[in-house]
Amino acid sequence: MRFQESLYPAWGQNFGQTRVLFEQQTDHQHLIIFENELFGRVMALDGVTQTTSRDEFIYHEMMVHVPLLTHPHPQRVLIIGGGDGGILREVCKHQTVEHITQVEIDASVVELCTQFFPNHSAGSFEDPRLTLTINDGAAFVHDCQDQFDVIIADSTDPIGPAEVLFETDFYRHCARLLTPSGILITQNGVPFLQGQELTNTYQRWRGLFETRSCYLTTVPTYVGGPMAMGFASHAPFSLPSIESLRSRSGTLGPLNYYTPAAHHGAFGLPGYVSALLVDSPTDG
Ligand code: SAM
Repeated sequence: MRFQESLYPAWGQNFGQTRVLFEQQTDHQHLIIFENELFGRVMALDGVTQTTSRDEFIYHEMMVHVPLLTHPHPQRVLIIGGGDGGILREVCKHQTVEHITQVEIDASVVELCTQFFPNHSAGSFEDPRLTLTINDGAAFVHDCQDQFDVIIADSTDPIGPAEVLFETDFYRHCARLLTPSGILITQNGVPFLQGQELTNTYQRWRGLFETRSCYLTTVPTYVGGPMAMGFASHAPFSLPSIESLRSRSGTLGPLNYYTPAAHHGAFGLPGYVSALLVDSPTDG
């Protein structure tokens, strides 16, 4: 058996399936979890690879430690999506964090990933700092009156339930909920193949944030080259010194991808990615 990813009609990866562990049409999306000889356990939602037990550390460490080590003193964190628990696991490593709110639309993802990918959450769903809410992230931020230092939108791609997480209204509410040094991080796809999504996000952030940028990380099973992690902040852009990042990241315990040098290097954008971070010409 094989799993053929369906994100791009004209091209895509396919995995050998040594065993299908679970497959279900949930209330929100098609969910499959299977085993692959190279990547271990793999989860896909609506035909798109979401996470694998072998390369998840890359994505989760870079989605979390870049913003939380850039923010001077992150205490309140909001995670949108992230039902597999990988983002939460990494956020819990930060002792400055006093409160974590996580809003995931599909309870099945939390339940099944806790069962089939126990190392993703590694017990962090039991962390007393966590408030987990099953809800649409867009609806949550619309009604929320709290403030957060960091918001991480660990969503699926802008097709299906996650589409609302790429719209201006969602970003506007995130901007409202962030503290003065607050940072928003978004899963913004693979620019080589999904460049318009990154441009859309950049343009929709205009007027909402002082800083609009992204950084790149290559995750083997997010095919098509490096993926963009959108980076927006009410504060001017800052790249903490290597020494400061070394000192602060040294308190997080062992990391397998994040290093201060990787943090700095991730913001070194190649020309074709910088060219996507433009306001539409009609905007003047
Ligand atoms: N690492 C993956 C990636 O880069 O594509 C994302 C992983 S995580 C599994 C994505 C999560 O977003 C899923 O659990 C999905 O249920 C959740 N999600 C999708 N739309 C959502 C929404 N509108 N509100 C909250 N969670 C949502």
